[in-house]
Formats: sequence, structure tokens, C-alpha cells
Amino acid sequence: MDGPSGTGKSTVARRLAETLGAAYLDTGAMYRAVTLAVLRTGVHADDSAAVLRCAEAADLRIGTDPGHAEVRLGDEDVSAEIRGPEVTAAVSAVSAVPAVRELLVAAQRRIISEARGRRGGIVVEGRDIGTVVVPDAGLKVYLTASADARAARRTAQDTAAGRASTVDATRADVERRDRLDSTRVASPLRPAVDAVEVDTTELDVDGVLEHLLAMVRDRGLDHAAANL
Ligand code: C5P
Repeated sequence: MDGPSGTGKSTVARRLAETLGAAYLDTGAMYRAVTLAVLRTGVHADDSAAVLRCAEAADLRIGTDPGHAEVRLGDEDVSAEIRGPEVTAAVSAVSAVPAVRELLVAAQRRIISEARGRRGGIVVEGRDIGTVVVPDAGLKVYLTASADARAARRTAQDTAAGRASTVDATRADVERRDRLDSTRVASPLRPAVDAVEVDTTELDVDGVLEHLLAMVRDRGLDHAAANL
């Protein structure tokens, strides 16, 4: 599942995985955790060689339980800190470094191939999942939504998590990251040619989920599901 931020990707991907009894991988959380490691060492996000060294040294551990998505650097749970404004401001620069992407894509493919061998399979969300990470995925979904809807959702999420946020500031941030993510040279954000695009502007989470479950059934992917 790919798409820009604020389209409901994380919520929907997690709920879909729970419904199917599948594993869940949030690849954005991996780029965010590496970005946190970079910021902590005081390396500038534009210094590609130093950023790669940080990424290689980071002891990144990511859980695949959709009910308990956990990200660690070593033993430290950084799940909340990686959503903060400092990481959000720097993550697009870090994730544009091709060697960082290579490193994380290799790690993602290992997690995915292990989960694919198990009943239930895996739901993976990010920006380049259908185009680069899993080109042979059984179903590729590209979520979109209007800029207003995306800014409003991100603001509501931030407020619920106790982070200060306004719709205008969030909208500017969402648009800035979209621009950086879709214009970068390495694996830019774009739908795979065989992705199904779903506009979530007028849909609530249940509405999107229903739509996705229908596609899962249509493709016979529910036979692999652990819960259906
Ligand atoms: O999904 P989330 O908003 O947490 O992703 C944070 C950032 O990580 C994105 O803005 C993008 O720069 C980067 N990312 C990426 N490739 C992915 C997932 C996320 O470049 N597969």
C-alpha cells in the first residue's frame, strides 16, 4: 500500500492486516527511526556518506504485529519519538539517500519474504512498495486524498497524540514532503502501473477497508488469510 501522507494509509493498512490475520510492516517507521539516529549523532541530513554510516550503525528493530506496532533503536522504544516534528522535518532528506534506501529495502524484503511464507501473509505500507520493494505483490493499492482532507487528518492525529499542530502548518508540511518524496531521483513516490488507486477523500476508514477487502477477495488472496 503506497501513497502520500494523510491518506489514511497507516490506519487502513493496520486494520486490514488485523482483519486478515496478516503481519504488518510500516516502512515509513524504518526511515523515521534511521532519521532519529542521524539527528542524535548530530550528522546533517544532507551529508549522504555520514547519513549512511549512521543507518548502518543503527540497531533498528521493527515489529510486525498490527495490534502493537513497535520500533526500537537497540533496546529503546522510539515509536513515539519518531513521529515528532524534528524527525518529520528531516525524514525526506534521509530517505532520499540511495544507499540508505538500498539498506532498508533489503531489510524490508527479508521481513516480507519471511512473512509471505506464513499463513496470513503481510500488509506493507510505504511510498515505493508496489514500484520497488515488492513488484510482484498480490495486490497493490495506491491511496490518495485531497490536500485539505490529508492536512485535517494529520492534524487530528497529532492533536490526539498530544503534539501541537494546526491545519495550516500541517498542510504546508504534508505538501513539502510530497514534493520532496515525489521528485527525488531514488524511488520517487508514484503509483505502480498495476496499482489500484483509491481516493479516500470522501470515505471513512470502514469505507476504505470494505473496498480493500472486496479486492482481496476478488483476487483470491483471502485464501491465504488467517482470519477469514
Ligand atoms: O509514512 P510516513 O509518513 O511515516 O513516512 C515518512 C517518510 O519516510 C516519507 O515522507 C518518505 O520520505 C519516507 N518513506 C520512503 N519510502 C517508504 C516509506 C517512507 O521514502 N517506503
